[in-house]
Amino acid sequence: MKTLVRNIGVLVSGDIRRPLIDADSLVVRDGVIAAIGRGLDEDADTVIDARGTTVLPGLIDSHVHPVFGDFTPRQRTVDFIDSAMNGGVTTAISAGEVHLPGRPRDIVGLKALAIVAAKAYANFRPGGVKVEAGAPILELGLVEADFAEMAAAGVKLVGEIGLGSVKTGQDAAPMVRWAKQHGMTVTIHTGGPSIAGSNPIGADVVLEARPHVVGHINGGTTSMSPAEIERLVATDMALEIVQCGNVRTALHTLRTAVDARATERIIIGNDAPSGTGVIPLGVLRTLSLLAALGGLAPAEAVACATGNTARVYRLNRGLVAEGREADLVICDAPIGSVAGDALAALAAGDLPGVSMVLIDGKITIGRSRNTPPAARAAEVIKGAGPGGAGH
Ligand SMILES: [Zn+2]
Repeated sequence: MKTLVRNIGVLVSGDIRRPLIDADSLVVRDGVIAAIGRGLDEDADTVIDARGTTVLPGLIDSHVHPVFGDFTPRQRTVDFIDSAMNGGVTTAISAGEVHLPGRPRDIVGLKALAIVAAKAYANFRPGGVKVEAGAPILELGLVEADFAEMAAAGVKLVGEIGLGSVKTGQDAAPMVRWAKQHGMTVTIHTGGPSIAGSNPIGADVVLEARPHVVGHINGGTTSMSPAEIERLVATDMALEIVQCGNVRTALHTLRTAVDARATERIIIGNDAPSGTGVIPLGVLRTLSLLAALGGLAPAEAVACATGNTARVYRLNRGLVAEGREADLVICDAPIGSVAGDALAALAAGDLPGVSMVLIDGKITIGRSRNTPPAARAAEVIKGAGPGGAGH
């Protein structure tokens, strides 16, 4: 199966060091990007005309709280992952399946939940979205053999440290070491507690625990102080800015990271479903915040939600590059915007209109049901369009 996307106006790479690619077409073969160039005109099964608009790598939401399937008990909402896909999200990374009613906190139970979540989402892609799940919440009593067992069963993540009984740097540090030895990527809750009954987590705990990711550095929902944020920017850990956090410290994190030349460590998530809600356009809204108010070049902001995150979580996506999984978003300025294209729309504080999403090279939707309508929309001019219908 070969797909050609041609007549691309702006091609965003997802690589924050070289965020734009000088090309107007790309070829997808068997779900993987096979060629990028100018005027490519291969004999493809499907031809998509991007009509001069913008192509981005599919967005990676670094902080989601799924449970099972496409239902969240937290906000009693169905199809929230499909809704996020309509906001350009093609990969969702679990920060812990914490909303399972009756979530087990004993060691056998928490391992079982993580293993089932990892395996269930490996078999099921809501709306086509790749959900990386199975993110155990650390509880006192875990030993190294537990991490080995989970890793052997396909668990690649550790959910937000601090939501279980492991809350201090001293308790967390050996477990983080074990998790890293077994190939897991580890995140930690920071700032004030998200629900009553837990404790705040500050920079000292994070520095002692040494996770890969400083989870919601701008709060989920209550932020650490600017001074603590500065101490964590001055490390090698990934810095996660979320939609459902504090907007002022999101911008403080960005400014501090820009000064430290550390924007390649910024990743972006929703932190939803949560008390704040389910926000299908949350990743786009965060890109707009960083670009419009934070002054970050919009293509670099996109990299924070694509290539940066893929690097931290070792995913073969997030970049428009040969050999990468062909997860792509085609978008434009929305109708009525002061901006002329999708990146200018982000810089102006608007949200782009998504006109097509591809996952592994397959079209999952045409015009988004959630973004404002794109001024110019991509079109399938040969082969099967969205929903498999011929054009
Ligand atoms: Zn949290």
